[in-house]
Amino acid sequence: MENNHINLLCDISELSAVLAGSDDVDSFLQRIVEIVAGHINASVCSIYLFDDQKSKLYLKVTHGLNSTVASDIELSVGEGLVGHCFQEMEAVLENKASTHPKFKHFAELDESCFESFLAVPIQRGVEHIGVLVVQREEALSFIQLDVRAMQATASQLASVIENARIILTLNESEEESRENWFSRNAVIKGQIASKGIKHAKSLVIEHSDNWLSSDIEGEFTLEDFEIALSQTTSQLYLLEKRLGEKLPESASMIFSAHSLILKDPEFTGKMGDLIRNGYNPPLAVRAIARKFIRIFKNSKNAYTREKVEDIEDIAKRILSNLMHKHYGADSECSGRVIIAHDLYPSELLKLANENAAGIVLVSGGVTSHVSILARSLQIPMLLVDQPRLMELYDGTDVLLDAEMGTFYINPSDEIITLFKEREQAKKRIKTARMTTSSKTKCGESIALLANINLLSDLKTAAKHNAEGIGLYRTEFPFLIRSDFPSETEQESIYKRLFSSMPDKVITLRTLDIGGDKILKYFQDDLAEDNPVLGMRSIRFSLKYKDIFRDQIRAMLKAAKGHSQFRIMFPMISGLEEYLEAKETVYSCVESLKKEGAEFCEDFELGMMIEVPSTLYIIDELAKEADFFCIGTNDFIQFLLAVDRGNEKVADYYLPHHPSVLRALKQISEAAIKHNTDVSLCGEMANESVYLKFILGIGISSLSVDALNMQTLRQEIRKHTMDKCQKFADELLAESSIDKIEAILGI
Ligand code: PEP
Ligand code: MG
Repeated sequence: MENNHINLLCDISELSAVLAGSDDVDSFLQRIVEIVAGHINASVCSIYLFDDQKSKLYLKVTHGLNSTVASDIELSVGEGLVGHCFQEMEAVLENKASTHPKFKHFAELDESCFESFLAVPIQRGVEHIGVLVVQREEALSFIQLDVRAMQATASQLASVIENARIILTLNESEEESRENWFSRNAVIKGQIASKGIKHAKSLVIEHSDNWLSSDIEGEFTLEDFEIALSQTTSQLYLLEKRLGEKLPESASMIFSAHSLILKDPEFTGKMGDLIRNGYNPPLAVRAIARKFIRIFKNSKNAYTREKVEDIEDIAKRILSNLMHKHYGADSECSGRVIIAHDLYPSELLKLANENAAGIVLVSGGVTSHVSILARSLQIPMLLVDQPRLMELYDGTDVLLDAEMGTFYINPSDEIITLFKEREQAKKRIKTARMTTSSKTKCGESIALLANINLLSDLKTAAKHNAEGIGLYRTEFPFLIRSDFPSETEQESIYKRLFSSMPDKVITLRTLDIGGDKILKYFQDDLAEDNPVLGMRSIRFSLKYKDIFRDQIRAMLKAAKGHSQFRIMFPMISGLEEYLEAKETVYSCVESLKKEGAEFCEDFELGMMIEVPSTLYIIDELAKEADFFCIGTNDFIQFLLAVDRGNEKVADYYLPHHPSVLRALKQISEAAIKHNTDVSLCGEMANESVYLKFILGIGISSLSVDALNMQTLRQEIRKHTMDKCQKFADELLAESSIDKIEAILGI
């Protein structure tokens, strides 16, 4: 970096001290633009800040433009080159800006004479703060070195500006802000778990008993009750059918308990008896439901306790049908943005099946499995550390922006219109940009495979031209059911994967349950104080060999005739585990041979690298395994001791921590040395910002969410392997997180 640029960084970092003693943010920011303009030798330097409340960018301060009109300049996200930079969170370098189709001319600013334009986003973690822009008169004058210097400056600025905002808001009375929280156009920031935007009414899901004691209006007859029962039966039938179509692997098991309860003479039968004895039907429904809830709640068995929700669901359905407030096959969740503390995977499935519009969780982490499932179900989801949201009135108008990580309560009409326009523009860009090649600028092919969680992901994977399946999480069919799927049921689920991609690599990972992937129907045996470090994943499979064997046999039979089949073991921590798992596979091969069954004999065996202990035996593992697949979600969690599902420590969960980067390099080096195929399938592979590093350390196979493939392909095409290697080396040489973030531009 040139001397000037280094001086610039020093000057900027010293400014935080100046800010601490001042509350005049405008003059402080003005000082910044002057320093940057001076060091970059630019005629213009401006800072645009994003206003969450209005969803607009405002020209906050400028050096070189007509500052008397600056306060009138506003841009929508995506509007003009500045809005574009903010929307994509990427640097924009245009050396003939006025001819660019996105260029927006503000006559009052007199900026048409500035041909060279360079903008970088200002962001900090999930917080998207604004844009820093420099301009020069002469065309073609900015170079890549300037981009890097500006990115580094912006990353320093991000925290300083955040401090400035805090200083400004300190005077706001806590009481006033609480009162206004739900009434005004309140804005809450969160982490994006599953992308998408939804404008809808809210619904807080909390297990409350209010419905059991609220007033009942009107008198009803036995006939009304019987009609309500038959309506409930057909609604449940429709729900089951819809679920079967959407999620064939669930085998509609989720609603089987409902149907059984509905037919139970002790439940609906007893309600009928009470009505015949003179009870008003709604009171009869509540009386029996209350009795069942009490019995189930007091059960020692966790699985039975779970059934309280089923009872509530059914009783509420009967009641609403009875009182003519029925909601068809959909429930009160339909079309609503759901707010909840946390959810089980099966609850999330129910919500998706009942057409919930989106979800806001007040706990949980982005790489937790509920988040992963939400992405597969394509239901927008945001994680916010704001338990007060549980107090939001049902039916409040909300806008869930799980693209920018913002949740608006009672958004203004202006914001709603802006969002509609943004959605339209996005749709147009998406269809225009479809590309199938994933080659770098220098012609190197990068394999983009799909992560599959639900069979419904297969369609998306095909649409986005996935080159195979790099990770099928076989635990999902186990998670969304209410009992273990049999060997035959598993075989038929796996067969669907093979028939959907007949000539491509298919990687089936053996059961990875435990941690946050709890089988409700096996919970009692698994009760542990610290399940993430407990009897989970491959340990579970090796302990319950019958379950493991059923699964391997189902896989081998389903793969019959397939030439690129791979079995992968999760959470391997040592050589012995791998060898024992491998031996189990070969014992299944022997038993299938003896039975004369048809199965696939030509397969590869490999392992997830996601437990840090593997680092110190990586050479031995590489010699044994046919392939490695790096699971950064768990690897980062264990290496940095940060719970991947805990929003409170999300800031510590850093894929770019120097230890993580160096460990990844070490794994890749060992794989290359021993000719062991290596790919990366954690969430890190989905994030464009890490792509250059991943390619630079020699990993050229990524397994990702199919929905991200287009963006990744575009990113891949921008780079040469040479540059990626240099970039990776530069990152590996750094030990400071701040400096690494500056290089990455985050
Ligand atoms: C991982 O740990 O990175 C991974 C891909 O596996 P899972 O997210 O299913 O734990
Ligand atoms: Mg994992």
